[in-house]
Amino acid sequence: MKIFITGGAGFIGSWLTESLIRSGHQVTAMDDLSTGSLNNLKNVINAPGYTFIQDDILTSPVLEKEIRNADCTIHLAAAVGVELVVKDPVRTIMTNVQGTERVLKAASDLSKRCIIASTSEVYGKSTKDTFSESDDLLIGPSTHSRWSYACSKLLDEFMLMAYHRNKDLPGTVVRFFNTVGPRQTGRYGMVIPRFVAAAMKGEDLRVYGTGEQTRCFCHVFDTVRALEKLIPDTSAAGNIYNIGSTRSITILELAKLIIERTNSSSKIAMIPYSEAYEKGFEDMLHRAPDCSKILQSHGWKAEISLEQIIDDVAEYYRNNGF
Ligand code: UDP
Repeated sequence: MKIFITGGAGFIGSWLTESLIRSGHQVTAMDDLSTGSLNNLKNVINAPGYTFIQDDILTSPVLEKEIRNADCTIHLAAAVGVELVVKDPVRTIMTNVQGTERVLKAASDLSKRCIIASTSEVYGKSTKDTFSESDDLLIGPSTHSRWSYACSKLLDEFMLMAYHRNKDLPGTVVRFFNTVGPRQTGRYGMVIPRFVAAAMKGEDLRVYGTGEQTRCFCHVFDTVRALEKLIPDTSAAGNIYNIGSTRSITILELAKLIIERTNSSSKIAMIPYSEAYEKGFEDMLHRAPDCSKILQSHGWKAEISLEQIIDDVAEYYRNNGF
């Protein structure tokens, strides 16, 4: 197949590209390299069947052409990371809403299969034990920048559903839950690359809030496997799928586990949210996916352990530096 990936030099996009190229597909990737990196493409840049376009999805003159040329578009280009979102809410909203609008309009006009990346952030402040795709969503007030990320992604989802209903767009939404692994940068706030790097350098692991908040971390290789099942499946059109691990861990336990697995002498420092993000910052206490839908429909579940994730991230830093 011919696959077009926006955000193709990013953390998820680059691993997806490698896997697709390995399976004999042709991949064209577009990325403005704002948060993605050419380093992530080292293994594919000269591969037969691979093309890289450095461009911004908001303004690129070839976006529509690339969507036309592909059998499926995977739209991963987005503003990512809670810290980046809190610092730059205008860019978050513009990239996430206008960029997706362009992709969806073109895919719809051309009746092309597309998959767009959404996020577990859309479940917002909901307090259920696990979140399923048809659950109600509870977003915080617009005075708190954090929620602009959830709302912008949610608008993307509504747009896709509207195009699907009115124009038969063969589009699918995936909601990623804390995807982690090698190549993810800690620059925009993500906890695992930050903790592993700090542990390896002997620096403090900075746990925000009480550390009692829980998350489920999914290895990017598992995430890529889920995407590869969805790409050729047009019966997934009009559907939303949670993609994540179901093993839950508190952030404090995570910090201890990372110190143990990296044989580190680092200490844990407890940091108030107001210092870590912004005044009035609201964190989600618990966030776990119900992944039974994609298990039943596509036989997918996350399989790689958290211990393996930590080891893979540590090995990546050992081989590539921080
Ligand atoms: N976190 C932390 N220290 C850090 C970065 C994050 O304690 O250096 C916490 C953060 O407040 C959240 C959890 O770790 O409760 C996961 O954060 P991340 O940004 O990785 O993902 P989120 O689930 O917030 O999207």
